[in-house]
Amino acid sequence: HLDRIAAVDGEYHAFLHVAGERALAAAGEVDAALSAGERPASALAGVPLALKDVFTTTDMPTTCASKILEGWISPYDATLTERLRRAGIPILGKTNMDEFAMGSSTENSAYGPTRNPWDTSRIPGGSGGGSAAALASYQAPLAIGTDTGGSIRQPASVTGTVGAKPTYGTVSRYGLVACASSLDQGGPCGRTVLDTALLHEVIAGHDPRDSTSRNVPVPPVVAAAREGARGDLSGVKVGVVKELHSDSYQPGVIASFDEAVAVLTKLGAEVVEVSCPHFEYALAAYYLIMPSEVSSNLARFDAMRYGLRVGDDGRHSAEQVMAQTREAGFGPEVKRRIMLGTYALSAGYYDEFYGQALKVRTLIQRDYDRAYEQVDVLVAPTSPFTAWKLGEKVDDPLAMYLSDLCTLPSNLAGHPGISVPSGLSKDDGMPVGFQIMAPALADDRLYRVAAAYE
Ligand code: GLN
Repeated sequence: HLDRIAAVDGEYHAFLHVAGERALAAAGEVDAALSAGERPASALAGVPLALKDVFTTTDMPTTCASKILEGWISPYDATLTERLRRAGIPILGKTNMDEFAMGSSTENSAYGPTRNPWDTSRIPGGSGGGSAAALASYQAPLAIGTDTGGSIRQPASVTGTVGAKPTYGTVSRYGLVACASSLDQGGPCGRTVLDTALLHEVIAGHDPRDSTSRNVPVPPVVAAAREGARGDLSGVKVGVVKELHSDSYQPGVIASFDEAVAVLTKLGAEVVEVSCPHFEYALAAYYLIMPSEVSSNLARFDAMRYGLRVGDDGRHSAEQVMAQTREAGFGPEVKRRIMLGTYALSAGYYDEFYGQALKVRTLIQRDYDRAYEQVDVLVAPTSPFTAWKLGEKVDDPLAMYLSDLCTLPSNLAGHPGISVPSGLSKDDGMPVGFQIMAPALADDRLYRVAAAYE
């Protein structure tokens, strides 16, 4: 895989840092243990992985694709990083992303965009476009992403790969650089549903260092993927979300989705239409809650604690150094969200914006609760669009935000979701993703249906 990265990543730019010798050494340790007759540390021992550059690593920089963290090396490993190392999974390198995970195209990286391996004039999705492109170009067989509003599932969708957002609180956020803490969730990415399930079981589990971590058993996702692979969905009730099936989506996306639903019916599932009336407000609520949390979380980049420091020459006050550093270190999308969030949280506007958005969040949760009284899983397209051309939406943030329409209700509710490839679009020949959603802690249902469909 390191050879493959050296040969092709110049074209795709999936990686920000490549581990090189350290990845080989980690693989060597697994080899030595196996040769000595030891049991493998996990089913994935020795299988290498690409890690999104938002999880801390002590042996490589963690930049979140931002200038403000250029070259910064964490003094500790994220819990997820630790779990990978303990499972014997060599980390090939850190992957490119939208700066601090804000975006849907990886064009907001301060280090230049990643390209979609299916067509290098197109975006690989975002914010985890580097991880998805690494998988799609066979530079890594496994990858890790984070999903705050769709950043695992949408890149999977537009690159023809698999990506799952686990139930909120089941994968530790300790050492995951915070974007929007009540929404962020790390998760597994792969080229098959079973690979993704195997990785899911490595990274999930309770962590006392994360106060939102849930102390519950990890859902049996590997067994569910194996069960699903037998191709029998009889007894499974599937709901098509009426509000996530719109004429405004690309025709090829809708056609592929309708075909996928027909496949589930053929496999024995009972398919019904369900209504989630408040989903139409999910985008508006998300883009208030998310920037609000961002504005608070990113206050920690104050030029004192981490990374970049501009103007510290004895002639500027601490406030001036802070302001100049943030001016130089953050890109336009990050600044836009800090401004939006600061505004939404200001005294006098709080009730009108942030407070309202929280109420909508509760209504969306209730829509889901009602839907799951009728069905086991919900399905929708992963994204209304296939991969668009680089540059097409960079000057239009609202158009960019629309690509998250189908993914962010799960984040607002803390529910799991998965995207699996569902063929190529008849519009442009680009990959389309099929999304399956389940109630909190029922991640195994996603894998059962996804593996049957795959
Ligand atoms: N595209 C969404 C956003 O820009 C989702 C990002 C994410 O999941 N990290 O906020």
